Amino acid sequence: MGKKELLRKRREKLIEEKGVIYLDNVRKVYSTGSPALNGITLGIGKGEFVFIVGDSGSGKSTLIKLLLRELTATSGEVYVMGSDLAKLKHRQVPRFRRNLGVVFQDFRLLNDRNVYENVAFAQRIVETPAMEIRRNVPAILATVGLAGKYKAKTKELSGGEQQRVALARALVNKPSILLADEPTGNLDPKNSWEIMGLLEEINESGTTVVVVTHNREIVNAMHKRVITMRKGVIVSDEEGGEYIDED
Ligand code: ADP
Ligand code: MG
Repeated sequence: MGKKELLRKRREKLIEEKGVIYLDNVRKVYSTGSPALNGITLGIGKGEFVFIVGDSGSGKSTLIKLLLRELTATSGEVYVMGSDLAKLKHRQVPRFRRNLGVVFQDFRLLNDRNVYENVAFAQRIVETPAMEIRRNVPAILATVGLAGKYKAKTKELSGGEQQRVALARALVNKPSILLADEPTGNLDPKNSWEIMGLLEEINESGTTVVVVTHNREIVNAMHKRVITMRKGVIVSDEEGGEYIDED
């Protein structure tokens, strides 16, 4: 083995040890304004459950978009599941995203389709055989508590139900990582707790879960790792942490 090969192997091993998500001194500067991320170094291990909190504008959604490869870093390195995202070619992005499930505050469902179709659609995109789709979709809908709602149009559902559909859609392809950007931002307290409970169950079955949230009460009650961001940097990262007051 040549020296170059040896160095490459050593680096790969390091990235693997750091976990499924690894950022090294990442900066993101949009064409307008000051840096949205200004030197983020962070490792998240396989199977972790992590909350990301911080004021509005602190860079949380930018961080999520980098992990999804919706954006690329201005400088620094982003690794997800061993892939260096700066090196990922356009045509490789869809395959990369199969490892990721994602949920947003505003659900982003197909509102003219029913519940079943919204979830089945995610499977068709990745060319799952029809027979498997017919088996997987009901199973995942049962997991999120929507077994009886297949045929409902998503616009006829409550917010909590819509977020469950979004969650089922995110999970049906069995991603290794689930990213949720303020998933309870539009929900009442009862539904917020239920969605967070589902996220915890998903995590317990082995999926790495990263949740951006403003829900102080839930963060403080769940005793997970809490990463606090402020103005594009991480100001605190604590296991069993609490929601830290701003200013
Ligand atoms: P958060 O999710 O924590 O509220 P964001 O990541 O959305 O923060 O934003 C971080 C900073 O980057 C903010 O100052 C925001 O105005 C800016 N920003 C976000 N998206 C864009 C964009 N597409 N173009 C320019 N600036 C942006
Ligand atoms: Mg945001």
